[in-house]
Amino acid sequence: MDLTVALYIVPTPIGHLDDISRRAVHVLSEVDLIACEDTRHSGKLLQHLGIQSKLIALHDHNEKQKVNWIADQLAQQKTVALISDAGTPLISDPGYHLVSHLRQQGYKVIPLPGACAAITALSAAGLPSDRFCFEGFLPAKAKARLDKLALLKEETRSLIFYESPRRVLDTVNAMIQAWGEQREVVLARELTKTFETFIQGTLVQVKAVLEEDENQQKGEFVILCRGYQPDPRAISQQALNTLALLKQDLPLKKSAAITAQIYGLNKKQLYEAGLEL
Ligand code: SAM
Repeated sequence: MDLTVALYIVPTPIGHLDDISRRAVHVLSEVDLIACEDTRHSGKLLQHLGIQSKLIALHDHNEKQKVNWIADQLAQQKTVALISDAGTPLISDPGYHLVSHLRQQGYKVIPLPGACAAITALSAAGLPSDRFCFEGFLPAKAKARLDKLALLKEETRSLIFYESPRRVLDTVNAMIQAWGEQREVVLARELTKTFETFIQGTLVQVKAVLEEDENQQKGEFVILCRGYQPDPRAISQQALNTLALLKQDLPLKKSAAITAQIYGLNKKQLYEAGLEL
């Protein structure tokens, strides 16, 4: 069956070569051109799938220049697929400029569902998955990474990061520095591959596993963290301000009782906080 003229976004396996859909194989077989990050790397996949190579390179360094050329191909009624080295294109991979430009120009972009390390990891991590926030790679420089983690400290949704084996231990250490030792974390390593491993525990426990066995630092990683869980007994700054104001004109006991009523807090705790104000 002839394909509609469009750019097809085609996910490829993240490890296990069987993790590619029949539709993806069909589209890759039928399109006129396949844009990929690395023609040698993707050439091997196509060879494995028995698909004749029609690859062109599209990576972070030439994406902006290639966009118009690909638009021209679509204008000439050619069909094009976009793949990346592994997983879903555009997810911490090239393709954003291309898709954004083609959409603006009114070309069709057709996505195929498929492998993505973040979603694969989340589906088995045992962390809340109803709401999550994908942060991709953290900055490589220590100070920028700590600043980013500080910004995310009170994010209540589950957090998902990609990380390279060279930096995984540094990142766990940075998380301890930014969030404390007790945050729950899951390292999903080598998903769909022979040495697939899930390392879970508090940050300090996971750090110990990585340090005890350097083999655990090898391979590809998704880091998943439980979101911030506010202490239900914590007294907000707003409540403390109210208490301080009331205390100027009323006895502490009365001030604590009124503040407790306004903010739904415990009056004994507020009384104790009031003693320290
Ligand atoms: N586009 C890809 C996707 O859909 O997941 C991600 C590409 S990004 C350049 C590569 C990163 O994804 C790796 O550094 C790692 O953090 C994560 N990753 C990819 N494959 C993985 C696997 N099999 N196991 C664990 N993490 C993986």
